[in-house]
Amino acid sequence: MPELPEVETVKRTLNRLIVGKQIDSVTVSLGRIIQRPDDTQQFALELAGHTIQRVERRGKFLRILLDDLVLVSHLRMEGRYGVYRKDEPVEKHTHVIFHFTDGTELRYKDVRQFGTMHLFKPGEEFTLPPLAKLGMEPLDESFTLDRFKSVLSKRKVKIKPLLLNQAYVVGIGNIYVDEALFRAGIHPEQMANTISDKQWAALHQAIITTLTDAVKAGGSSIKSYVNGQGEMGMFQHQLQIYGRKSEPCAKCDTLIEKTVVGGRGTHYCPSCQKLKQHKS
Ligand SMILES: [Zn+2]
Repeated sequence: MPELPEVETVKRTLNRLIVGKQIDSVTVSLGRIIQRPDDTQQFALELAGHTIQRVERRGKFLRILLDDLVLVSHLRMEGRYGVYRKDEPVEKHTHVIFHFTDGTELRYKDVRQFGTMHLFKPGEEFTLPPLAKLGMEPLDESFTLDRFKSVLSKRKVKIKPLLLNQAYVVGIGNIYVDEALFRAGIHPEQMANTISDKQWAALHQAIITTLTDAVKAGGSSIKSYVNGQGEMGMFQHQLQIYGRKSEPCAKCDTLIEKTVVGGRGTHYCPSCQKLKQHKS
């Protein structure tokens, strides 16, 4: 499942590949991807003739800005975009095709079919689902330690599910939450209201550096995962804890353990991330 760094990389790649292209027509072969408007034909009609200005990101959502329209796209589990020439064969699981006037196409492929697209008038997208009520953007300047702490530190819930809740901080999924908690030395089941000021500062910094490092890795490996069609694959970065069950911890050599927290597979080091009963 793509998290913030992957979506950020897709955003940057789309900005290189599709800005300035004008949509001639749109083909939708799986209606349920299109969540707004209800009518997929209307979706296609509204987009025809519009030109792509740039691509932005809000949490794990892409915002494709056109002249006078905004397309909000979520890749969910397996959604992928690719840019092709129109004479290239259309691969299986391609559900939406944006045909451009220059003879190229942006194709949306989604094996699991969980991805979504919503079309809005500019600005309207922030007042309605799915973007309304999204939390802090962790790579934004507005993500200060004070703000982070004031929103989370009084809550009597486990820190990992709290960080996964997109209403508080956006873009962090199951992989990077484990990485950030490991870097900060906080047990995933630590109650938020028992985390010390020092730990909040470490966690705030760990979230920023974990995500920033991953975005940088995506940026530097851009050629290796964008294929000839410009199709963007997902990648995994140098993960220190996630997926490393029974391997030695990079900091202390203790074997990494895997457990389940809030229904999600969770990796942690039992020595570096001790569960504390009280604020320390
Ligand atoms: Zn350790």
